[in-house]
Amino acid sequence: MLPVLVVHGGAGRIPKEREGLSSEGVRSATRAGYTVLRGGGSAMDAVVEVVTVLENNPAFNAGCGSVLNAKGEVEMDAIVMDGRTLASGAVSAVRNVANPVQLARLVMDKTSHLCLTAGGAGRFARSMGVPEVPGESLITDYARMCWKKNLVLDTNHVEFQMGKMGTVGAVAVDAEGNTACATSTGGMVNKMEGRVGDTACIGCGGYADNKVGAVSCTGHGEAIMKVTLARLILFHIEQGRSVEEASDLALASMKERPHGLGGVVTVDSQGRWAARFSSQQMSWAAAQGNTLHYGLYAGESFTQSLDKTV
Ligand code: ASP
Repeated sequence: MLPVLVVHGGAGRIPKEREGLSSEGVRSATRAGYTVLRGGGSAMDAVVEVVTVLENNPAFNAGCGSVLNAKGEVEMDAIVMDGRTLASGAVSAVRNVANPVQLARLVMDKTSHLCLTAGGAGRFARSMGVPEVPGESLITDYARMCWKKNLVLDTNHVEFQMGKMGTVGAVAVDAEGNTACATSTGGMVNKMEGRVGDTACIGCGGYADNKVGAVSCTGHGEAIMKVTLARLILFHIEQGRSVEEASDLALASMKERPHGLGGVVTVDSQGRWAARFSSQQMSWAAAQGNTLHYGLYAGESFTQSLDKTV
């Protein structure tokens, strides 16, 4: 089976001056992840690699670069899911770790639980030897600026909130036909301390099942949770819809009922893929065979050779 990897760098409205950073970041992370798949790596290895690269890139709202909560601190959510066994691991409201996605994978691999939160997740990280990083090291000037602006403006103003999205996620199908997803975020700007968003919740921020496919979501977390967006898309695929139709139908329900905007990357078990969004923009890239597809605005899709370095 020809492996495929689809990656997003968050749905929302990306300020003009940050479009290049976002698109280049997503493309280079996709190349890194596809190298893992081409080398015979598993779908799970590839999605964790991609999300780790994006967490380490301060242009995204995950790991270093995360948005700040109402107190001006970083609290992050992440999830992984393995479509082969339905194994999953997640962390929520976690602090002081550089790569929450790797901690989520440890929850999956080393515990009998699905999600660890806040202080307990931190203690688990220490017990696993995950290095503790100062909270300040995850905060960028841009995140602090957004936080200050939101303190002045109405924090519930969705359009402004959408300006600093940049959650990251990936889905993959490997050569063996195994599917996986990973998603990581700092959440919503000026969220309440302790808020847990869609990303850490199975079936909301992500889902993977070899029998159907895999999805990673981004957008207004509370709305995503109300429609269990990732699982809803896979339900539509189970009902015979294509990856595009299933993604669009579920995003439309999320817009109609809880009035939320968002975006998704979706693969089915045959390796067909889609990157769809109801927000103004979503930075995305997909690698399959020798081609890298990518885009930022609705209806836009460019290609590059994967054998050419950028
Ligand atoms: N879904 C994320 C959250 O609500 C935010 C985002 O995707 O930008 O935490």
